[in-house]
Amino acid sequence: MQFISFEPGIEVNATTVAAIVRGMSSFTSISGRYLSKVNIGRIVDGELILDMDAWYSQDAWLKAFENIAEQIGDKILFNIGKSIPKSAVFPDWATDIASGIKLIDIAYHINHRKNGESLYDMETKTMREGIGHYGCEAVPGKREILSVCKNPYPCVFDRGILTEMATRFEPGAVVIHDDSCECRQNGADSCTYHVRW
Ligand SMILES: [Zn+2]
Repeated sequence: MQFISFEPGIEVNATTVAAIVRGMSSFTSISGRYLSKVNIGRIVDGELILDMDAWYSQDAWLKAFENIAEQIGDKILFNIGKSIPKSAVFPDWATDIASGIKLIDIAYHINHRKNGESLYDMETKTMREGIGHYGCEAVPGKREILSVCKNPYPCVFDRGILTEMATRFEPGAVVIHDDSCECRQNGADSCTYHVRW
């Protein structure tokens, strides 16, 4: 389900929170209000101040994000998703659309941690479980990637992230939500998207 964490003890870094707050542009007073209410940052002179070295509870973050998303609507949520690969911590490893989509899951794990420990080991390039995934499966014989996004972030936001990474390497790429599969907007744990170019 969107906005419900998979496990307790998960944290998100301030860089990701700041990236999403920046993406809300004209809605910063709304986001500041909801975030400070769950102790993510504090309001100084009407502006949300985040400690950029901090990690914040994913549960608290998702609660605030859900309240903000209700106010701003799907179009802005899509645009915020698009801004994520530019402003969250994203390694510069991708060389084509397939490696770009694959990188989303790695970046997702870099930007979250569990019980104080990183969910991605840069040296061994291994992931730890706890937050779900952004899938990346090439469809044989087609210019298509199937991405099952099983994570607590909202459906439209993830379509924005996929769209930004796809069009970065293939400007004509489209990301289509598979309405025949389950959807997090209806309480499911995952959504399925077809990335085509
Ligand atoms: Zn969905």
